[in-house]
Amino acid sequence: MIRLNRRRFVTLGSAALVGACAMRPGSPAKYPFTLGVASGEPAADGFVIWTRLAPEPHSGGGMPDAPVAVGWEVAADEGFRGIVARGTATARPDWAHSVHVEVAGLQPGRWYWYRFTTPDAASPAGRARTVPSAGAETLRFAFSSCQRWEVGHYTALRHAADAAPDLFVHLGDYIYEYALREGRNYIRTFDAGETVSLADYRNRYALYKSDPALQAAHAACPWLVTWDDHEVDNDYADDRPEDGMARSDFLKRRAAAYQAYYEHMPLRAAQRPSGPNLTLYRAVSYGDLATFHILDDRQYRSPQACPRPGRTGGSNTVGPECAERLDPSRSLLGAAQETWLRQGLLAGRARWNILAQQTLMSPARWEGDRYWTDGWDGYPAARQKLVDVLATGRVSNPVVIGGDVHSFYAADLHARPQDPSSPVVAAEFVGGSISSLGLPQEQIDKLKALNPHVKLARSDVRGYAMAELAPGRMTMRFQAVQDARVPVSGVGTLASYVVEDRNPRLQVA
Ligand code: FE
Ligand code: CA
Repeated sequence: MIRLNRRRFVTLGSAALVGACAMRPGSPAKYPFTLGVASGEPAADGFVIWTRLAPEPHSGGGMPDAPVAVGWEVAADEGFRGIVARGTATARPDWAHSVHVEVAGLQPGRWYWYRFTTPDAASPAGRARTVPSAGAETLRFAFSSCQRWEVGHYTALRHAADAAPDLFVHLGDYIYEYALREGRNYIRTFDAGETVSLADYRNRYALYKSDPALQAAHAACPWLVTWDDHEVDNDYADDRPEDGMARSDFLKRRAAAYQAYYEHMPLRAAQRPSGPNLTLYRAVSYGDLATFHILDDRQYRSPQACPRPGRTGGSNTVGPECAERLDPSRSLLGAAQETWLRQGLLAGRARWNILAQQTLMSPARWEGDRYWTDGWDGYPAARQKLVDVLATGRVSNPVVIGGDVHSFYAADLHARPQDPSSPVVAAEFVGGSISSLGLPQEQIDKLKALNPHVKLARSDVRGYAMAELAPGRMTMRFQAVQDARVPVSGVGTLASYVVEDRNPRLQVA
């Protein structure tokens, strides 16, 4: 990896931001599609298409306080000669002038192009693919997570878009709520405090979505999204914030964060929030080849066990002294989602069952028998309940994909997760982070040595994972970028694995 002087990047980042600012308020252009377009939630007959009108994206959007009509069209070709669907949607001020159109009536298993128009402007075009109705031969999907804006560039997303997958799965930490801290060398800077209000969260999404590589990745294929903690507040658990904010204040904050999330994601109306609630867990099927069970491990979880002394919530790393961690009544998904997932896994007819969730599911035991309480290790009884479902043998080819830990992981998930002599029930892959920084590699090397079911653990590179599914096998490639501190750099394959039909154990490709 080429190491350049860090200070140079700070200077470049600041210069780029000044350039962007100069084109903001008062600009004569007033182009409304500054945040690009997106598609998501593909089905056999359609998908969601998304945009948001925001001529002044960094300061509230800059739209009048009135509904605005937005035209949309879907074409069978890149040149928009054969329009197959069109209509008009209303962008409302109470939803930040976002537009979510659920396009239906399309043909299964083919690519379409879409765009939006206002009387004065047309959006860039996006590309989306419908799901094959049955007999799908292959599916290529990319996934990653964790794109902290100020610490890196979205080089990984640029490469993921260039690889032209059928789907991209984003596993959370789409934004980070933090303010910048004094004295840090950031790659890019912005001028705003920690996000608390609806206006704060909207501006933060606008900041992130102004990134051209992120826009390119959204335009390249439909996305399936779920969130982790930073879309609201680091380490929050249900109604409990990381710090001592009152419950009622935190639920207002959560409502603002969830609303802004919906406003900026290509989600269906079924995911529209109501106050501090948003049902994000859902299943999306890709013919009879795969079902994505998209999980929400934040909104319903029990509080983390044994928080740090003097704190009311948040994560900790604890040893055997923390009995609460093992309490069988503690849940990561909540009872309703657990039941829904168990039923979906057992009833599903797809060849591959992808558990699209936030974090590492396999145990990560640190020296001294210590565990980090924010991930599945903080909820071992809930994990065992889920693994017991996979171990019935009635779930066809479960594969766990995850994010959160700013690392690549490949692991065998065992029927008794701590016991490597118990049968392997699922392959697990954590697909790196797009820009967020991981723990030092030396620490991760020690962790790997203590956890024989972990076959790869790399925190020192950024990137994404690319999966190729066929009925008989899945191949998984971990793609690491050369340097996420610059907008453009090379990419290479860090590791490749194969998982065969009815044999969940990882094989090195
Ligand atoms: Fe993260
Ligand atoms: Ca996280």
